[in-house]
Amino acid sequence: HSIHFDIFTLFPSMFCGPLSESILKRAQEKGLLSVALHDIRAYTTDRHHICDDTPYGGGGGMIMKPEPIFRAVETVLTRPPGWQLPPEDAFVNLPPWDPEAPAPLPADVPIILLTPQGRRLNQAIVTELSHFSRLALICGRYEGVDERVRTQLVSDEISIGDYVLSGGELAAMVLVDAITRLVPGVLGYAEGAQQDSYSPGLGGLLEGPQYTRPYTFRGEQVPDILLSGHHGHVARWRREQALLRTLQRRPDLLQMVNLSEEDRAFLRR
Ligand code: SAM
Repeated sequence: HSIHFDIFTLFPSMFCGPLSESILKRAQEKGLLSVALHDIRAYTTDRHHICDDTPYGGGGGMIMKPEPIFRAVETVLTRPPGWQLPPEDAFVNLPPWDPEAPAPLPADVPIILLTPQGRRLNQAIVTELSHFSRLALICGRYEGVDERVRTQLVSDEISIGDYVLSGGELAAMVLVDAITRLVPGVLGYAEGAQQDSYSPGLGGLLEGPQYTRPYTFRGEQVPDILLSGHHGHVARWRREQALLRTLQRRPDLLQMVNLSEEDRAFLRR
């Protein structure tokens, strides 16, 4: 299983740094991840390459116009993954496109608008999205996108939290990162995602404290049980620490976790 992202943005270069380091870089080298960045502006045909306009009804700010977004998304998604508009064709030699005729878009490619009004992202949604092999992400800017993008082009809307960013690019990057690390083969054993907070291996709990060398640092010692070499005891201790962490920080999560009799007994103490 590999995953391909088509990202539609006015600022493609914002993605270059994050995609060229560490795990995301290696995922691309291994052929498990590919990302095509599509500059929405390249899909304008007017002399000034305008992508935004003032809001109907007045008020401040600018709204992203529908045509360049529809044109970019419909052009790209009716072509195989990996297709990109040749840079020399931007503005001047665009494939034909009919603004009035909706293109037949593939049903198995979610078209996701990043918006603070979308489904609030969590590990369950990340897992759900990681099963697709191709995803399209649309990044808004200014005061957001024309409503027709939402009603006629987009199939899903995702928010990365209850706060407002200046653009969808960082949110799209968050999605790419969180989804990619779930693609089998992306993480090595050492980084295994199974025991991370919110993950199935931990049953959705927060992960407990972790230590590495030195044994003593600024007067604080590593809990001796971790040095005992007794795997059963270590596993039990880690489970209890995860339960404790979750109880202290996110008691709301405990409602959704499958607790064993042993877990319940521990929490009652
Ligand atoms: N006027 C919009 C509203 O109130 O819903 C907010 C526009 S925001 C300033 C500009 C763009 O940033 C949005 O179109 C969206 O793509 C992105 N954005 C902002 N906050 C976000 C969030 N929490 N999650 C995902 N995308 C976000």
